[in-house]
Amino acid sequence: MNTVTLDQVKTIKTLNNIAESGLSVFNTENYTIDNDNENPDAILVRSFNMHAMELGDNLKAIARAGAGVNNIPVDKCTERGIVVFNTPGANANAVKELVLTSLIASSRNLFAGIQWVKSLAGQGDEIPKLVEAGKKQFVGKEIKGKTLGVIGLGAIGALVANDALDLDMDVIGYDPYISVETAWKLSRKVQRAMTIEQLFANSDYITVHVPLTDSTRGMFNKETFSLMKDGVHILNFSRGELVNEADMAEALESGKVGKYVTDFPNENVLNMKNAVAIPHLGASTVESEENCAIMAARQLKEFLET
Ligand code: NAD
Repeated sequence: MNTVTLDQVKTIKTLNNIAESGLSVFNTENYTIDNDNENPDAILVRSFNMHAMELGDNLKAIARAGAGVNNIPVDKCTERGIVVFNTPGANANAVKELVLTSLIASSRNLFAGIQWVKSLAGQGDEIPKLVEAGKKQFVGKEIKGKTLGVIGLGAIGALVANDALDLDMDVIGYDPYISVETAWKLSRKVQRAMTIEQLFANSDYITVHVPLTDSTRGMFNKETFSLMKDGVHILNFSRGELVNEADMAEALESGKVGKYVTDFPNENVLNMKNAVAIPHLGASTVESEENCAIMAARQLKEFLET
């Protein structure tokens, strides 16, 4: 029987529910190749970092239950002829929903407002009066009629772009590598920027949905902030390394960037008043974890059977 090694108990549960899987599955949260489960035919991982891990002699395929393959040594796998899969689009809806939630919540100062209200605990009957007196500091902005710039129009970016139109935003998208299939999924009302500078100059809100590569690493920095509107809101649900966080802290301090929402908390911005750090919850939904695990398991099963 083919063996598949997993780094997540939850994923095993999902896999066991796939009656037809025919795979033997191990839970190896602290996996090393010397374990009893050594020499698997395939490995199914979620966020486990495999770069320092020895790849067994028998290994033929790795599937990542998620988007992106940063945690997998793809070059080493290519050299060895090991096939690497990921699960494109399986968590896109989960990320999209959190992006849109955060877009509105941050624009309405909801995160800061909720935190402030909690600080009133213990003030008893005074609370309603304190709320009325203090709420002025949280006056927000509506997103209707504002321009959202979407960088990267893949699985997540395309969903965000289309739904933002339904929220009455104007949407500009930038993606030099967009496929015809993706373009078909976009509403014709999504304007396409020919250059990223065009998107920077015209957006009130910017959300980024590109993979981390050598060319995207640090794409948000002092220089690119200077091309943006004053007070722009930036949302990063892709990878922390896309943003030079020290430059971001300065831009938040000066007000150049009005608000920064990141799914990748970082010391530089954690305590800044106008930054919101979320504990990497983009794809963390029951549905998304299940979709990813099922897609990854099917890919491995089909691969091992052929
Ligand atoms: P995808 O591959 O479907 O889309 C990525 C898009 O980015 C592609 O259309 C590609 O052409 C485009 N692109 C690449 N380089 C670009 C550049 N320099 N400028 C503009 N566009 C560029 O991937 P996806 O499923 O939409 O996910 C996007 C990223 O989101 C992933 O790589 C991952 O880092 C991140 N992600 C985060 C979470 C989370 O939990 N926060 C969950 C899933 C994915």
